[in-house]
Amino acid sequence: MIPTGARARAFVVPPPPPRTPVESESETRTMTNEPPTPQQQAETIADWIVTSEHLVAFTGAGISTDSGIPDFRGPDGVWTRRDAGLPEPTWRVAPGQVRPNPAHAALAQLQRLGKLRFLISQNIDNLHRASGIDPGLLAELHGNEHLLRCLACDELYPREALAWDACRFGRAFRTDPPVPGQPACPACGGRLISSVVNFGDPLPVTEFLLADGHARRCDLMLVLGSSLTVEPAASLVGLALRTGARVALVNRGPTPYDDVVTLRSWAGIGDVIPPAVRRAAGILAAPPRRHRDDATAGGRRAITSAAPPRRDRVSTARRTVAKP
Ligand SMILES: [Zn+2]
Repeated sequence: MIPTGARARAFVVPPPPPRTPVESESETRTMTNEPPTPQQQAETIADWIVTSEHLVAFTGAGISTDSGIPDFRGPDGVWTRRDAGLPEPTWRVAPGQVRPNPAHAALAQLQRLGKLRFLISQNIDNLHRASGIDPGLLAELHGNEHLLRCLACDELYPREALAWDACRFGRAFRTDPPVPGQPACPACGGRLISSVVNFGDPLPVTEFLLADGHARRCDLMLVLGSSLTVEPAASLVGLALRTGARVALVNRGPTPYDDVVTLRSWAGIGDVIPPAVRRAAGILAAPPRRHRDDATAGGRRAITSAAPPRRDRVSTARRTVAKP
């Protein structure tokens, strides 16, 4: 059982963006030749979270593998196995039993902390919504297999809310002919289709414009579990780099952005992001004095009050790269 959104993942590999000049601000732990451990990378990311003013996360299938859903280009991914002549990987849990994992929960916690300003996802598995992410601060660029979209007014509806009978009305792909008697949009009467973006379908315009705007504004982007080979979604990472944001990329397989991001982690997302968010939450909850000291330890001046998002920030962090 592979999500049909998989079909939307078959575009060309983007050329890496030009390398952002990396300047002098140093972190002592990256001065040695030893690659940083996942724990050290989590600490660095925690410091960046604390000082960030406009944090955006970008997720791909790799964030859901710990929930039992196979990814596409990971070591045991759908495309990786296909290219090796192997059968498709199996889901480790039944599709109806899939639940958010600690990395999904960590992003939801970041949002409750007021730190995560926006979440961009290539996933159609509904796990970000299930983890408590505010749908108004979420762009699911490839749709959501649980949601139907009105072709006329663009409104989204959960399938169950409209009693959509899949046996009778099908999966409602854009290219399927409408079935007589199928539910229509309660707001405008328009035709409902699956919100999943299949190969050849247009990306949802509103979501993509929101994602583009936040990618341009962010000063920290966490890229989690994406091989960054599907355009135009992957280009949002290049956009963040070009506008000076720090980009922390956690993915088990290679990506076209490996040599240009600010921090590259090959560890499991669950080994880096939940600890980073726990640490950041602890720093943010500490009394102001300690908060300032801890945040400054990461090499950047702490912000102790809310400040408007800045668009002109230039990354000054030394890159930290750990190869497996
Ligand atoms: Zn409508």
